[in-house]
Amino acid sequence: MKLLEDRILRDGKIFPGDVLKVDSFLNHRIDVGFLCEIGKEFHRLYQNEGVNLILTVEASGIGVACLAAAEFGCPVVFAKKSKTINIGDNNWSAVAHSYTHGTDNTLLVSKDYLGKHDRVLILDDFLANGCAATALAEICKQAGATVVGIGAVIEKTYQKGGDTLRKQGFRVESLARIASMSPEDGIEFC
Ligand code: 5GP
Repeated sequence: MKLLEDRILRDGKIFPGDVLKVDSFLNHRIDVGFLCEIGKEFHRLYQNEGVNLILTVEASGIGVACLAAAEFGCPVVFAKKSKTINIGDNNWSAVAHSYTHGTDNTLLVSKDYLGKHDRVLILDDFLANGCAATALAEICKQAGATVVGIGAVIEKTYQKGGDTLRKQGFRVESLARIASMSPEDGIEFC
């Protein structure tokens, strides 16, 4: 998506640990009009798949998921990363290693909000090693739900997540695909 690539080149900052910061429009300040365009693009890609639920993980996936859900006319469920007193015990769960925090989190989704009749589009801001998406897909499997696709706003294709998920048979679509990234040479798209 040209609009997104231009925005990444303009506003993205490369940090140590292979982290691209896009805090000015996606991860801290949210450019809602811009994310509406992203939501429309995910809808264009998956509109014929009968999506009735978008699944993401807190916190950075929620904005994108909501604006895409507005296009699909479906709800968003976001996996919680910690067990709070108000979530109860009736949950699907899977462990995901956090790329940016370096810790393992147990992702929790209430059994009330995900079940075997759901056709799920998994969305997240980034796809790196695929841990978050894999854990969300595992949660869908536990629930008997169908994963119709996995979408990422930005995929770092030189990390293994996208390939691994595609080999498992998932339809993975990312709107900007980074081929390489370094502070010296900048960002190259596929
Ligand atoms: P994965 O689970 O695919 O290894 O990593 C995806 C998750 O880690 C996303 O939810 C995202 O929040 C975070 N992440 C991975 N790489 C980056 C990055 O380069 N920049 C930012 N801001 N987040 C990232």
